[in-house]
Amino acid sequence: MLNTYVNSIFLIQMNYKAALNSPIFSIISKSAKALNVDAYVIGGFVRDFILKRGTAKDIDIVAIGSGIELAKEVAKNLPNSPKVQVFKTYGTAMLRYNDIEIEFVGARRESYTEDSRNPKVESGTLTDDQNRRDFTINALALNLDNTRFGDLLDPFNGIEDLEKGVLVTPLDPDITFSDDPLRMLRAIRFASQLNFYIDKTTLAAITKNSSRIKIITNERIVTEINKILSSSKPSLGFLLLEETGLLQYILPELSALKGIDEIEGQKHKDNFYHSLEVVDNIAKHTDNVWLRWAALLHDIGKAPTKKFNKKIGWTFHAHEFEGSKMVYHLFKRLKMPLNDKMKYVQKLVLMSSRPIVLANDIVTDSAVRRLVFDAGDYVDDLMTLCEADITTKNPKKFSKYHNNFKIVREKIIEVEARDQVRNFQPPITGEDIMKLFNLKPSREIGVIKDKIKEAILEGEISNNYDEAYQLMINEGKKLGLKLNS
Ligand code: ATP
Ligand code: MG
Repeated sequence: MLNTYVNSIFLIQMNYKAALNSPIFSIISKSAKALNVDAYVIGGFVRDFILKRGTAKDIDIVAIGSGIELAKEVAKNLPNSPKVQVFKTYGTAMLRYNDIEIEFVGARRESYTEDSRNPKVESGTLTDDQNRRDFTINALALNLDNTRFGDLLDPFNGIEDLEKGVLVTPLDPDITFSDDPLRMLRAIRFASQLNFYIDKTTLAAITKNSSRIKIITNERIVTEINKILSSSKPSLGFLLLEETGLLQYILPELSALKGIDEIEGQKHKDNFYHSLEVVDNIAKHTDNVWLRWAALLHDIGKAPTKKFNKKIGWTFHAHEFEGSKMVYHLFKRLKMPLNDKMKYVQKLVLMSSRPIVLANDIVTDSAVRRLVFDAGDYVDDLMTLCEADITTKNPKKFSKYHNNFKIVREKIIEVEARDQVRNFQPPITGEDIMKLFNLKPSREIGVIKDKIKEAILEGEISNNYDEAYQLMINEGKKLGLKLNS
């Protein structure tokens, strides 16, 4: 009996030691010894090792003393003596080792004021430092001292919480979240990433403090939203954001989609839950976070365009256009990049109903050609979005739409191979037209170019020079133009 007990402890010890296999940890250990300070690896690295979440991108080291001095000593002992980035105001330092960011901080005690998430900081013990951590599972530390190398320091039973899959704050959650409201988003982000639940009291404290999120910068909010969106089932995070009241502060456009109205017995679907289903669906097919954003936002135009009409029921006229305009305002408000990524999301939102309209009907070549022409390089992503958008619970409709989309995808390949209308370059240029009819820049040139483009998209002529040339002559004649002799 005793033996088994000793064995299992031994195994646990072995297990944690295995987390420190990389040579960097013995270098940190030696450096700490040279400075006569204790050092520990803490937080996400330890958590993710136990959860077997793959290789770490960042490692946090806490020193009982100066983190900056320790970082400098470590850099000195590393073969390539990497640069140490020092953040004096925060008392932290960072260096890179094989693409891993290693952050050093001196153990500290923190006290907060009402209006800021930046605390007053004093140096402290390891316990002080563990107390300031956001969740019990993020307060786990491994000793780097060579005599106790790999010993686990787990003052809040974080291991047990990891096993249970629960997020709970080490101290009073009300104070934890009021001190630094970013932690509320981190709780929800971890719940979504790790598929954990949030402890009841901790969850209630998030709801209570939700309005405090207003003091957090947009950049930090977006980082957390992106992590929620990147998790394998993003709806977990968004449902928690909604449930706690955070969503209305950070993404009011989505909150506005919630609810079902009924007039004269006619209801529309709840577009909030629908959007989440679409995001979960698309998460199975792409890791592209911008495509996931497009899925999340594809229906945001439905709130401001919603109308009831006695004859036809609920309508959301031009919601795609409205939605694409809202994408710009949403990105701008959250200080997200207003670049090609934003334009990509806008375009997918704008075109999000096109393939569905198409798949409702017989799928013609010309409709597919127009789709490819309008969507350009985004056509495959648009199809992925539209397939994810099929959330009907009616199995007949479900397979009908999927089959039709399969046909659309096949036709896209066919049309592409034959007509090359993606990133369309007209076979006849304005200059060709001016030369043939001896024209100065004028309206007629645009008219002829348009006729050629339309004829190609409709499949009346092929996308080649000879057929386009012949059409140019015919159309010119119709306009009363004379050939250049
Ligand atoms: P990931 O790196 O996957 O985002 P993480 O938990 O490692 O997750 P980091 O931002 O790297 O998150 O932070 C490292 C550690 O610092 C955390 O594990 C936690 O102990 C602590 N920490 C980070 N942010 C906060 C915060 N706002 N409040 C309290 N502790 C925090
Ligand atoms: Mg980390």
